[in-house]
Amino acid sequence: MLTTVLLSLLWLAAFIAVALALAYRRVDLATSTIILGFSLLAYSLFGVIHWLWMLLLWVGFAGLVALNMPNFRRERISAPLLRIYREILPPISDTEREALEAGTVWWDGELFSGRPDWSKLTSLPAAKLTEEEQAFIDGPTEELCRIVDDWQITHELADMSPETWAFIKDHRFFAMIIPKDYGGLEFSPFAVASVLTKLASRSVVVASTVGVPNSLGPAELLLHYGTQEQRDRYLPGLASGEEIPCFALTGPRAGSDASAIPDTGIVCKGQFNGEEIIGIRLNWNKRYITLAPIATILGLAFKLYDPEHLIGDRDEYGITAALIPTDTEGVEIGRRHFPLNIPFQNGPTRGKDVFVPLDSIIGGPERAGQGWRMLVEQLAAGRSIVLPANASGGAKAAVYGSGAYTRIRKQFNLPISRFEGIGEVLARMAARTYIINAAVAVTCTAINRGEKPAVPSAILKYHCTELGRMIANDAMDVQGGKGIILGPKNYIGRGYQAIPIAITVEGANILTRSLIIYGQGAIRCHPFVLKEMEAATNENHEQGLIDFDTSLFGHIGYAFSNMARSFVMAMTHAKLSLTPQSGPVSRYYQHINRYSAAFALASDIAMLNLGGELKRRESLSARLGDVFSSMYLASMVLKQFEDQGRPDDDLPIVEWACRSLLYQAQEQLHSFLRNFPNRFLAAGLRILIFPRGRTYSAPADELSWKIVDLITYPTESRERLCAGIYSTTEPSNPLGLLQEALEATEAATPLENKLRDARRAGVIGSDDPLEMIEQAEQEGVLTADEAAQLKALDEQVMALIEVDDFAPEELRAGTA
Ligand SMILES: Cc1cc2nc3c(=O)[nH]c(=O)nc-3n(C[C@H](O)[C@H](O)[C@H](O)COP(=O)(O)OP(=O)(O)OC[C@H]3O[C@@H](n4cnc5c(N)ncnc54)[C@H](O)[C@@H]3O)c2cc1C
Repeated sequence: MLTTVLLSLLWLAAFIAVALALAYRRVDLATSTIILGFSLLAYSLFGVIHWLWMLLLWVGFAGLVALNMPNFRRERISAPLLRIYREILPPISDTEREALEAGTVWWDGELFSGRPDWSKLTSLPAAKLTEEEQAFIDGPTEELCRIVDDWQITHELADMSPETWAFIKDHRFFAMIIPKDYGGLEFSPFAVASVLTKLASRSVVVASTVGVPNSLGPAELLLHYGTQEQRDRYLPGLASGEEIPCFALTGPRAGSDASAIPDTGIVCKGQFNGEEIIGIRLNWNKRYITLAPIATILGLAFKLYDPEHLIGDRDEYGITAALIPTDTEGVEIGRRHFPLNIPFQNGPTRGKDVFVPLDSIIGGPERAGQGWRMLVEQLAAGRSIVLPANASGGAKAAVYGSGAYTRIRKQFNLPISRFEGIGEVLARMAARTYIINAAVAVTCTAINRGEKPAVPSAILKYHCTELGRMIANDAMDVQGGKGIILGPKNYIGRGYQAIPIAITVEGANILTRSLIIYGQGAIRCHPFVLKEMEAATNENHEQGLIDFDTSLFGHIGYAFSNMARSFVMAMTHAKLSLTPQSGPVSRYYQHINRYSAAFALASDIAMLNLGGELKRRESLSARLGDVFSSMYLASMVLKQFEDQGRPDDDLPIVEWACRSLLYQAQEQLHSFLRNFPNRFLAAGLRILIFPRGRTYSAPADELSWKIVDLITYPTESRERLCAGIYSTTEPSNPLGLLQEALEATEAATPLENKLRDARRAGVIGSDDPLEMIEQAEQEGVLTADEAAQLKALDEQVMALIEVDDFAPEELRAGTA
């Protein structure tokens, strides 16, 4: 009896294993049917099985065979489902459709597949600068950093000095994305990011000012959508810096919901240069516009109406983008906002009944109503570059400065970097900086190869600025009062103040996390959802049914496969899953494989169960977005590690970064399941995703201590992590001086050890550092040269620990 039961269980297990293997490997339907048919036959002939159970299995198999008959499947299954799908499909506005269609799907699509094809990522070349780009960074960018006085900018002038403005224009910093034919520099996205990274390590105001014309704005829009005449007219001036651009979308009533702008343009007849022409009468009220106070060309977004049907047969065209010279009658600019003590040029602009010709529309009248599409298409790439690069510059500077500062600053007779509390903070600062650097370098390279990765851009915008905020907070904490007291000697205060600006612009972060990353990703990156939606809205119903049927059954197979993959990889800790290479980081590839399947499964069930409601359940979709982002960022870290030649020394940082990201993926999946409204489905998902519970751990302390050694000593890892910042040793550059002091501290370590030993042995008795050195010299513990070296080091360190003070009248605010 026992043997019979065991045998029947064994047969059942073998049959399930075959089914799981087919689903895990995503074997196609026809092949799976044949293999399952033979397995079932063998089970029926040789297995010990109750006849009723057998009958059920054969009926199930007959259903599977039927699915292989296209006509039957289409007419009997897909057609009725398509009718239901059409009824429940939430209406998609034109604005939403344009946002969804913007950009391309790249590595993000692989992560959504549940079975990422790593070759898509590993085949991407490493980020590289051309000789010309490198020369620009080593030449004009380095020089710009040298002449910049950030305290003068932020406190005394509330603006960059005239020399700085002139230098920026003369060296075409505003023209990095403009082609050479128009006088621009025509740099790659990675080069633009590298220039901004260096500038951001020196001055947020300079980096922001340079960033804006190289981001979404008139030049970018002209290049992609402008007419030849418009390009010839504006681009040379924009390249030379004679023209200053800005782009005005936001107003008091429409911020995050930018598609709701109330600003109008009415097509009408009017006088222009003494002639009557058909033009546009514009009225707008915009605020927060960067460079607006000094702009000569205003890029303007407004809603276009044509009540007299002068340009076509439509009353309304929707959001339209136009270029308006700011000396046009009625344009109001010049007043300034004051963004958090970071006084880059930013202010409101208004216009009342400003009449401009029709060819002010970017791309001419045929592009009327395409403004929103233009903006979202360009944001699809642009959000990966400027703000993430600024975050990278700030983060690198914070780690470089904090690593050195915590080594030279002593409390309780020890460098503060030796305290575990500080070490824990330094380690996470370094690993987070690595994540930002990797995301920027790899994503910029993908853009360089023609991708416009809309969803990764949103991931970078959100996570690089959020990580930047955490790093800025940590840098502030480890530096204590030194970080708080503002003045020329403070090198982190302004970066800390500036962070909320990066968080808010180009899609405020809460909105980006809650609505955009997953909202766009679920439709764009999912292998079937967009295809199903397109099939359902296809006006050719016959073709629509064929496409729907293909997508639907592809989707069902994908869902079964993700169930199998998720469960098998959770049970085996993904140890059997394939990775692009072996080595110390291969386990992270495997864990990404695992979470990819789990995420795809959870995502499908959420969409199936909640439908359009998922969009409103922001806390659920944001958590799925976090899982998605964690996998994306971890894969960027792995790629960067490869691209940098897998330096063994960097392993602790890479491991910390990957481990913390994948731990975050696990925890957010867990929170998603914990809060999923359908408890029955949540329980089922938990069995498939976490059958062994939450087994993944956050980085261990030991890993953190290894990182501390890497960044508080003058190591190659420290230099690699912070490469590209302004660290030149010169009197006005705290980062260079800190590095110099760090190296001097390292060189003086044997002497410090001698002092410590002599004190322990009672040869010297003083507690005062300078007296100790003198006593040591008198007692012959140190030579005269050694004593002089230690005194010089003490002086060097004290100069860096010093903070500024001011006469009260120096601090008095201006008249604003
Ligand atoms: C310094 C600075 C420079 C700028 N430069 C420019 C520029 O050059 N050109 C330009 O056109 N604009 C510019 N902006 C505007 C910027 O893009 C907007 O500030 C931004 O879009 C947010 O709008 P808001 O400030 O009105 O905030 P609101 O839209 O009022 O948002 C407030 C909060 O609500 C959240 N929120 C809104 N909707 C949702 C939602 N559905 N789900 C979850 N959370 C939501 C947001 O994330 C935010 O946290 C700039 C802003 C600043 C501060």
